[in-house]
Amino acid sequence: VDRAACERADADDPLAGHRDRIALPSGVIYLDGNSLGPLHRDVAERVRQVVEVEWGEGLITSWNASALRPGWVDLPARVAAKLAPWVGADADEIAVVDSTSVDVFKALAAACRLRPDRRVILTDDANFPTDIYVARGLAELLGDREVRVVPTLEVADHLDDDVAVLTLTHVDYRTGRRHDAAGLTAAAHDVGALTVWDLSHSTGALAVDLHAWSADLAVGCTYKYLDGGPGSPAFIYVARRWHDRASTPLQGWFGHEHPFAFAPDYEPAAGAARFLDGTPPVLSLSALDAALGLRADVDPETAEAKARWLTSLFVERVDARLDDEVEVVTPRDPTQRGAQVSLRHPQARAVMSALIERGVIGDHRPPDLLRFGFSPLVVRSVDVFDAVEVLAEVLGTRAWDTPEHRAPRTVT
Ligand SMILES: *Cc1c(COP(=O)(O)O)cnc(C)c1O
Repeated sequence: VDRAACERADADDPLAGHRDRIALPSGVIYLDGNSLGPLHRDVAERVRQVVEVEWGEGLITSWNASALRPGWVDLPARVAAKLAPWVGADADEIAVVDSTSVDVFKALAAACRLRPDRRVILTDDANFPTDIYVARGLAELLGDREVRVVPTLEVADHLDDDVAVLTLTHVDYRTGRRHDAAGLTAAAHDVGALTVWDLSHSTGALAVDLHAWSADLAVGCTYKYLDGGPGSPAFIYVARRWHDRASTPLQGWFGHEHPFAFAPDYEPAAGAARFLDGTPPVLSLSALDAALGLRADVDPETAEAKARWLTSLFVERVDARLDDEVEVVTPRDPTQRGAQVSLRHPQARAVMSALIERGVIGDHRPPDLLRFGFSPLVVRSVDVFDAVEVLAEVLGTRAWDTPEHRAPRTVT
C-alpha cells in the first residue's frame, strides 16, 4: 500500500468527519488514543458552557432540570445510555462512576458475594497491574479469598469449582492480544464461576457485545478510546439477571433509591444505578457526555473494521520498511487483537522519545515495547504511513541514541 492508496482510503472513510472535529496540534500524528483520547472541539465548548453558564450562572439550581437544559442529577444516567450501545448493554445495566480501579473493586466484591462458598479470584499475568493490586486488596479485606494469577494462555485450565470469579482484561495493554471473551465466559459459567471483564482497551474501538458474551459484570475506562478527557469517570456493567442480587460494597447516597429523601436506611436503587455512590464529577462527566454524543451515529462495527484496517496497514508498512530491527509482538491475525500494535525493540524508551520529538506520539511499556494505538475515530491511513516512515528514519539514523532520549520519565 503506497501513500496515494492511503489518501484514497481516507477520502472513502465513513469516519473521516470525526477526525476533522479533533483539536490536534499541527504536525502531530497521535497514536496514543489508547492511553488518552484527544480533545474534540465540541467537547471543549461543552466544558466551557458547563463551567461558565451552568455552574457560573445557574449555581446550585443546575442540579435540577430547567426549561433550558437537563439537570446535572440525571447526568450519570444520560451518559450510561449513550455508552450502552458501545458495549452491547442496556442503559440500566451501566453505571458511570468512579475510576476503573474503584469499579474493579466494586465488581469483584459483588461477584464474591454472589459466590460466598468459593475462595478463588482467578486472573492472568497479562492483566493490568491495578486490576491485580485491587483484587489482592479485596482478598486481604475479605480474609477468606485468594487471588490466583496464572499464565495468560492457560486461564481456561485453571477454572475449577473453587473459582468464585474469573477477571480478565479483554485486550492486553502490552501486546494488544484479545481474549476469547465469549468462550472464556462460557467456560467460567460451566464451573459455576462469574466473570468480571475489564474493557478499558476495547470500549470505543471494538464492537464489544456483553449480551452476546453472557457477561456477568464488567468495567472499563472512558478516557482512552472514548475520548472522555483525563480522568473521566469509568463505568461498571451489571447484567440484568443479577440486578436483584448484586450488591455494592460502597453503599452511597447516590446509589440509593431516593437519595434526596435523606432516609436513615439504605435502599439500593434498581439496576446498575445502585453502584453509583457519591456526588458525580459534573465537569468530567459533561466532557464525556459531549464526547459520546459526537459518536452517537457511529456503529461500533464500523469502528472495529477501521481499527482492523489501520492495524493491518501498520503491520504491513513495518514489514516493508523495518526489516528485523523490531519484532511485531501483537497477533498478526486481526481478529486476535485490539486497536493497538506493539513492537519490541531493546531501546524502546529512547526510540519512543525520538519519535515524540518528531511529532509521532505513541508510548513505551517497559522493558522493551513500543506501543501504538490506532483509535479508529482519530487516526487516518496517511498517519499510519507517515508514522512508519518517521520510525524507519529514527531507527536507520540511530537518532534515538542520545543521553536525552535515554533519560527516564515519570509518566511513560
Ligand atoms: C487504563 C486501565 C485502567 C485504569 O484505571 P484507573 O483507575 O482509571 O487509573 C485499569 N485497568 C485497565 C485494564 C486499563 O487499561
